[in-house]
Amino acid sequence: MTIAGGCQCGAVRYRFQGPIAPAYACHCGECKKQSASAFSMAVPMRYSQLTVQGDAASFETVAHSGKAKHNYFCGQCGTRLWHSPTNTPDAIALKVGTLDNPSGIAPSGHLWVSKKQPGFQLDPASEQHQTQPDDLVRWRADLVRMA
Ligand SMILES: [Zn+2]
Ligand SMILES: [Zn+2]
Repeated sequence: MTIAGGCQCGAVRYRFQGPIAPAYACHCGECKKQSASAFSMAVPMRYSQLTVQGDAASFETVAHSGKAKHNYFCGQCGTRLWHSPTNTPDAIALKVGTLDNPSGIAPSGHLWVSKKQPGFQLDPASEQHQTQPDDLVRWRADLVRMA
């Protein structure tokens, strides 16, 4: 199963072979900024799984862990594409909204529920963290293994 996606203007396109790992949502302040919305939604995966056409630009922010976070986006339209803890991306968090067909993908987990905007009801069956797991890198890697 080939899964494809890209930015809003089409300058950056990607595809990879499924299956896809469980998605998660994050309600923290940084994710509100980067999504320009109430929360972000991402699928953890390995960058090596992706075939990318076009050049993604990046800039650096500081993650909740205090470590650098590299944020990749389309330099033409500004759509955020994926995040990586390193600038040679290996473990990445791919933005669900950039998939050509994100239908049917519900978040299996929620981070930073303490910062959630009012008006959103979370699935009680989902994993919910008031902040985030202590070892977020490992938590994401566990999700990748569930693909
Ligand atoms: Zn674009
Ligand atoms: Zn966040």
